[in-house]
Amino acid sequence: MKCIGISGTSVTLLVAGLLFVPAASRADVPNVISDAAIRAGTVGTSQRASISILTVGTGRCVVIACPTGEKILNDCGTRNARAAFLPSAKAFFDSVVYANDPLYVVLSHSDVDHIGLVKDLVGVHPVRRVLLGGVRGDYASVLGTWLDDEEHGGAVIQTLNANYFDTTPNAGLPCGSNATNGAYVLGSNAGTGNDASIVLGIHDGTFQAVLLADIERAGTAQLINHFPTGLAATLVEGAHHGSDTDGANPPTLGNETRPDVAVFSAGSKFRNYAHPRCMMQSVYFPPVNGVLAGGAAAHTFSCYNGSAGNRRLTPYTNVTVPIYNTNDTGAFVLITDGTAWRAWTCPGNIISSLTCALAMANP
Ligand SMILES: [Zn+2]
Repeated sequence: MKCIGISGTSVTLLVAGLLFVPAASRADVPNVISDAAIRAGTVGTSQRASISILTVGTGRCVVIACPTGEKILNDCGTRNARAAFLPSAKAFFDSVVYANDPLYVVLSHSDVDHIGLVKDLVGVHPVRRVLLGGVRGDYASVLGTWLDDEEHGGAVIQTLNANYFDTTPNAGLPCGSNATNGAYVLGSNAGTGNDASIVLGIHDGTFQAVLLADIERAGTAQLINHFPTGLAATLVEGAHHGSDTDGANPPTLGNETRPDVAVFSAGSKFRNYAHPRCMMQSVYFPPVNGVLAGGAAAHTFSCYNGSAGNRRLTPYTNVTVPIYNTNDTGAFVLITDGTAWRAWTCPGNIISSLTCALAMANP
């Protein structure tokens, strides 16, 4: 039984590329990218959410504006020099999250490439709740004092039981509380390390994002076990930066999510990580009768071919498969009104109509 997502009929239509959208809803998705558009959850009456996957090199940083106006920071960290990405990530965050916006922080797990920049981004923004994958002690060395301070300041610090997942919107998270709007913990604490990762789902109307953080074998099995008929995602953020080791990103995970668009948070500095693998194209978009998926504006997708010990960085150019590497494209910013959606790539995390490029639109 699928607990969030779109109906079986709609899944068929999505797969066939024939998503039916009432014309009235389309005008609510802005054509022009701006920080105001990205944070627009608090204005207007339409459902509207944005999900921005920033470029932070070898790391992960996701900023979510709920259709109900609250904001979620879902990880932020990098293994690169902080100076390379902190200023632009901070500027992006501050232009989308205003001082009085209710802020929630969801940390998938405690690796530094996911949490090392959290303190800097949040700054003085008042935090309502911090949801942690793994156990609180995992965060002691990087965020221990910060968690204590936020708790003293009124934030709720929450951890989850082993294998915890939601079948209705998470009561401790914002973004809505009914069948068509809400934030879900789709999986968590399937194991330790990467497999402790919280998998976050954002559901707005018929739009659904599935953010896989760093799940590997155990987290993937847990997700498929919880949602045996699949999650029918519009947007997937691929698992573990696009790795294929330790059971990450198997074809069954592609089948589970079958996205319209897939994004990988990755950086090229650490070649031994070799994120993402080129095979991610066929994992998430298996060719049909030898024909690759299309629909995206031509862009570069850099990825690693070859086997362990002999990985080669391969920049595919003029790719129209809807698959993105943040290291190539900068921030990947998606805005939806709950039905239609548009996505932009913004080099250097700079929100600007001049430099952000429309990547995809549906319809
Ligand atoms: Zn990671």
